[in-house]
Amino acid sequence: MLTSIRGRSVIVTGASKGIGKGIARVFAAQGAHVLIAARDLSQAEAAAAEIRTSGGVASAVAVDVSRAEENALMAQTASERHGGIDILCCNAGIFPAAKLFDMKESDWDQVLDVNLKGTFLSIQACLPALKAKGKGRIIITSSITGPITGYPGWSHYGASKAGQLGFIRSAAIELAPHNITINAVLPGNILTEGVKALGPEYIARMTSAIPARRLGSVEDVAYAALFLASDEAAFVSGQTIVVDGGQVLPESHMALEELG
Ligand code: NAP
Repeated sequence: MLTSIRGRSVIVTGASKGIGKGIARVFAAQGAHVLIAARDLSQAEAAAAEIRTSGGVASAVAVDVSRAEENALMAQTASERHGGIDILCCNAGIFPAAKLFDMKESDWDQVLDVNLKGTFLSIQACLPALKAKGKGRIIITSSITGPITGYPGWSHYGASKAGQLGFIRSAAIELAPHNITINAVLPGNILTEGVKALGPEYIARMTSAIPARRLGSVEDVAYAALFLASDEAAFVSGQTIVVDGGQVLPESHMALEELG
């Protein structure tokens, strides 16, 4: 049994839908006070309202994580509404596909700005409040794509997600004296609203590549993040948890065919 995170102030970026919304929902169900951050305020408000309907504490703020001043406003909002910041989940991310022969410099910049620079900017904006608490938790949603695997069209995305891991290794050392840990979850294929919209054929094909024979749920990722946010994870920093149902393990198609 983990020590409760009841009453802790949590920011989840990119929490208006998908994995971030799942993290916000699971953390709020554990009694955390959640600030839902995304660019589209009405969607963020709707996600917060869903949590409140279930008895949780949540509100929303509009932020583009690639902009320093908006991250500052996000951190200030969490401090004012929830008495500081205990946990920051850097989850906001985009994944537009572009193959190398066609990729424009602006495609590269957009993905790196949101996924990698956005992670840095959100963290930097929240650090004074995390430090003031005397302990803190930062959890990043990276991916298997980049750190472990590749996929055509996602070289910029993979670079951004692998870059997040390079970032946390040095950051973990700098933050350790302040009792702030920084870790990452690496989701495989997760059944978000966006993936559901790709239809049953896509989902069936993806499922066939996963030893667990299902896509992940947003809760699968959220519970890994919850462990990293717990008091019990105090001695874990600069590390990663892969949440992929074994997707990265088979060395060939034959390994999966052996399963029948
Ligand atoms: P999603 O359903 O598309 O949701 C993305 C969230 O991020 C939304 O709330 C979106 O809201 C927000 N967002 C996008 N750009 C933003 C910006 N510049 N500033 C602030 N918020 C922004 O995505 P998802 O599939 O849940 O993915 C979430 C994270 O998990 C990403 O980092 C992604 O790389 C990672 N991931 C996902 C999967 C998967 O299978 N789904 C697998 C591995 C890793 P607005 O558009 O309103 O800003």
